[in-house]
Amino acid sequence: MADHEHTHEHDHDDHEHEHPEELTEEEAERLVRKEIALSQIRQYGDPALRMKAEDVEAFDDELRTVTERMLSLMHDADGIGLAATQVGILRRFFVCSLDGEDRVLVNPVVTPRGDDTEVDAEGCLSLGPVRVPVERHTSVRIEAQDERGEPVALDLEGFPARVVQHELDHLNGTLMLDRTDAESRREALGLLRPRLVLTP
Ligand SMILES: [Zn+2]
Repeated sequence: MADHEHTHEHDHDDHEHEHPEELTEEEAERLVRKEIALSQIRQYGDPALRMKAEDVEAFDDELRTVTERMLSLMHDADGIGLAATQVGILRRFFVCSLDGEDRVLVNPVVTPRGDDTEVDAEGCLSLGPVRVPVERHTSVRIEAQDERGEPVALDLEGFPARVVQHELDHLNGTLMLDRTDAESRREALGLLRPRLVLTP
C-alpha cells in the first residue's frame, strides 16, 4: 500500500520537480531510489497481481532474505505495505509498517472485530497515481506467523487495520479497484490506461 499522505505532500511540491537543481543531493537520491524500487514492483496489468497466493510452508533463509528485500523496497518506494504477489511471488506473506514498526506477516488470517466500517482513500504501489475510496473494517485482529515461523497476533484499529486488509487482498488477487465505487473505478482506469485512449 502506498503512503497517500506522503504522496499528497509530493503533489504540493510538484513545482520543485520542475527545477531539479533546487533539490538537495539527499532529496535527489531519494527520488531515484523510489523510481528504482517502483520499477521492481509489479504494476497494474501484470498477471501476478490477479493470482491467488499459496500458503508458506518453509520458514527458511530464502524467506528471510526476500522479506528483508521487500521491506527495503517498500521504504524506498514510500510505501507502508507490500505483498509477495506484488514482487511476483505467489506465496501468502506481506511486509508492512504498522505504527512505525516493520512487520513481516506470513499466512495471515484477518478477522473483523465488530461491524464498524469506514471509507477512506487508499493508494497502492502497483497502481501508480491512483487513489480511490475503499470501505474497510475499522477494527480487526490479524493472526499470522513472523519470518521465523513464530505466531503473531495483533489487534489493529483505523489505519493499521486498513493496511493489513489491503495487503491481505493482494494475496487473493484482489485490488482496491475491485472494492471502490463505479465512478472512482472508471476514473482510476483512465489514469492507468491513458495510452489506450484514442484521441479523436
Ligand atoms: Zn496494494
